[in-house]
Amino acid sequence: MRLETICVQGCGRPKSGEPRQLPIIPSTTFRYETSEEMGKLFNLEASGYFYTRLANPTNDAVARKITALEGGTGGVLVSSGMAAVFYSLFNIVSAGDHIVASSTIYGGSYNLLSVTVKRMGIDVTFIEPDWTDDQIHAAFRPNTKAFFGETLANPALVVFDLERFAKIAHEHGVPLIVDNTFPTPIHCRPFEWGADIVVHSTTKYMDGHSAALGGVVVDSGKFDWDAHSDKFPGLTTPDESYHGLTYTKTFGLEGAYTTTLVAQVGRDLGSMISPFTAFVLNLGLETLALRIERHCENAQKVAEWLEADPRVSWVRFPGLKSDKYYDLAQKYMPQGSSGVMTFGVKGGREAAEKAMAKFKSIIIATHVADAQSCVLHPATTTHRQLSDAELLESGVLPDMVRLSVGIENVDDIIEDLDQALA
Ligand code: PLP
Repeated sequence: MRLETICVQGCGRPKSGEPRQLPIIPSTTFRYETSEEMGKLFNLEASGYFYTRLANPTNDAVARKITALEGGTGGVLVSSGMAAVFYSLFNIVSAGDHIVASSTIYGGSYNLLSVTVKRMGIDVTFIEPDWTDDQIHAAFRPNTKAFFGETLANPALVVFDLERFAKIAHEHGVPLIVDNTFPTPIHCRPFEWGADIVVHSTTKYMDGHSAALGGVVVDSGKFDWDAHSDKFPGLTTPDESYHGLTYTKTFGLEGAYTTTLVAQVGRDLGSMISPFTAFVLNLGLETLALRIERHCENAQKVAEWLEADPRVSWVRFPGLKSDKYYDLAQKYMPQGSSGVMTFGVKGGREAAEKAMAKFKSIIIATHVADAQSCVLHPATTTHRQLSDAELLESGVLPDMVRLSVGIENVDDIIEDLDQALA
C-alpha cells in the first residue's frame, strides 16, 4: 500500500461482517482459561493481551498504521509526545550514560535533556546542526548511547541533515533518534536516510484536530545492537527479570527495542495511551495525507505573501528560496516541510503585540499543526519571563510571531493577516 492508502487502511483489513471502523476496546484487562496460559504472556513466551498498560488491541492497531507509514518494524503508542521522546531514550540510556542532542529542538524536549534527565545521572551535550563534522564528532564520548534531533525543529524550523547525522551516529556505534512530528511520514521518512528510531507528538498533525494528546515511538529494526553489545547490555545480555531472556536473541534486531520499551519502560513508568484517544487519533490519521498536502500548499502561499509584504521584516520558512534551510528541505521534504513558519513584524515587540490583538479567524493558541490556523507571540507567552537581551540569546526575537497555517481557504488566512498587520 502507498502512504495515502495506509492512512486509511493501515489498521488492517476487517474480516467479513466485521466493522469498517476501528473498534475501541476499553478493557483494562483480558480473561484467560488457565494460569499457565497467562504465565506464558508474563514470561514473554507468547504474545497476547493481559493488561492495557502493556498492550491493547485498539492501541496496537493504530501503532501498526504509524509504523507502516514510517516503514518501521514496530511501534508503541504512548500518552504524549514528551513520553515518546523520554521513552525512546530511556529505553537504552541509564545513569552514567551520555546523549548527544541537537540544540534546536522543541522547548519541552530541550528541558527534558538539559534539566530532567540530569537528575537521573544522564549527561547531555548539545550540538549546533550547523557545526562541522569534526565539531560534532568531538561531542561524542565512550559512554554516549544516542544522538537525538528533530527533522524540522519547532520553532526554529532548522532542517536536520539526516543522512550526515546518521553517518556520524553510526561511526560512534549509537542510533540516531529523530522527532519527525512536523513533516510527518507523509513528507519525510527518516528511516530512508539512515535514522534508526523515530518519535512523534501525535498531538500535532497526526491527530490534527486539537482533540487527542499522544505520542509514538517507531523502530526501523535496522540498528545492530549486537554489534555494539557493550553499549546496550539491556538489549543484548540476559534479563534476569524475564528468566534470563536476551531480547535481541528472542525478538531479533527488528523486535528487541520495542519489546523492552513495552516490557520494561512502559511496564514500570506507565504513560500508555487510552484506547479512546487512540481511536480519535486514528480518525485524524485517515485524512493525514490530504491535510498535509493542503497545509503545505497554503503555507507556501502565505510565506510568499508575507515575504513580499513591507510590514514584515523577516520570514523563516524552509519552502522559501531565500531560507537558509531551503536546500536541505528540498532534499529531505521536497513535497513541503509543514504549515509552520515564523515572521517578524516591523516595529518590534510592540507592533507584534498590536497585530496579535487584531487576528479574527486565526486563533491565539499554544499549539501548531492543527486544521485551524493559529498564532503565538512567544515573547509575551511561552518566553515572557525573558528580557529582550535574553530573548535574543535564545533565538526568540521580540518581534517574532509563530504562525501555524491551517487548511482553511488560503485567501481567508491572508486576509486576516493583512487586516491584523494593517
Ligand atoms: N516534539 C515536538 C516537535 C513538539 O512540537 C511537541 C509539542 O509541541 C512535542 C514533541 C511534545 O509533544 P506533546 O505535547 O504531545 O507531549
